Amino acid sequence: MTDTRIFLSPPDVSEVERKLLLEAFDSNWVAPVGPDLDAFEAQVAELVGVRHAVALASGTAALHLALVAAGVRRGDTVLVPSFTFAATANAVMYLGARPVFLDSTAASWNVDPDLVAQELRARASAGRLPRAVVAVDMYGQCADYEPLLDACDRYGVALIEDAAEALGASYRGRAAGSFGLAGVLSFNGNKIITTGGGGMLLTDDGRVATQARHLATQAREPVPHYEHRTVGYNYRLSNLLAAVGRGQVQRLSEMIAARKETAGFYRAALGDLPGLTFMPIADYGLPNWWLTCLLVDSQKTRDQLLARLARHNIEARPAWKPMHLQPVFRDCVMRGGEVSADLFRRGLCLPSGSALTEHDRERVVSALREG
Ligand SMILES: *Cc1c(COP(=O)(O)O)cnc(C)c1O
Repeated sequence: MTDTRIFLSPPDVSEVERKLLLEAFDSNWVAPVGPDLDAFEAQVAELVGVRHAVALASGTAALHLALVAAGVRRGDTVLVPSFTFAATANAVMYLGARPVFLDSTAASWNVDPDLVAQELRARASAGRLPRAVVAVDMYGQCADYEPLLDACDRYGVALIEDAAEALGASYRGRAAGSFGLAGVLSFNGNKIITTGGGGMLLTDDGRVATQARHLATQAREPVPHYEHRTVGYNYRLSNLLAAVGRGQVQRLSEMIAARKETAGFYRAALGDLPGLTFMPIADYGLPNWWLTCLLVDSQKTRDQLLARLARHNIEARPAWKPMHLQPVFRDCVMRGGEVSADLFRRGLCLPSGSALTEHDRERVVSALREG
């Protein structure tokens, strides 16, 4: 095999980020505090259109603190889409609460808002409302927030937006990450922008931001000696990584444009193949085209395509394995499940990184068209 490996969604960093990183290094702000951290937070808050942004060590940490802000405690329930990455449900478990999993709609692969409304109605009449609902913007496409927020508002339940995959996407003109009590971003290496690892909590609520900042710095009271009234966490992002993030945000629109071009290329080059359907793009918003994913007519064919891509040194992945099918969550309640189970059986995610070249894309397409 002489061809270089094509990754699913590798980091795309440039001279811009390198320069900012070295400047931060030379400034000696080599700590989880500093001017780059402040600037990165301000930049993302402005971009998303929220009042406060708190940079954190990971998207998972941001989810954890968002759930704390929603008041989630031991013994509570939280509604969570089954079709997501495990971090969404893990954060609920950290608090000793239980996720109740809900199926997705085939129309967007996001949580089915009708199921959310049904579950809230049933739980309200049984006097067992969940403490929060988490919606996930899957593969860079927003969930359907109008009906979700309607349902949550009706029962006074907090909504948390897991926008880990969706920075730069929008829903009816409003940016991903701005919905509900708090939004969550991830800057993991495979996300739309990366700091090499990191995350952010976004909110319009000053108290939520202050609490998140406090808990993320070991809940240190603002006095010279070390005073603590609650158990905190060490969740702040490094100033060095924030410097990388500043450069990535500057390049976000060009990186989205590159991913969109790749999505268009795959659609044009594979659209005629029988048995392939691309993830539907709902007309309520604009995705950030994080990953191009499609459904293959059968699991057998999907697995053959995965194997063929692997033989060509191309990284592709099945769609997420739903949480209700994960051994770790086997005791949790699940509502529905056919849609997410089917996405897992037949879903295929293609290399979609913003630095993918024309040649790379052609290699992917010819591997898929072979035979
Ligand atoms: C990546 C991801 C997370 C976790 O983010 P980390 O920064 O890796 O902790 C959470 N939710 C979803 C949907 C993700 O894709």
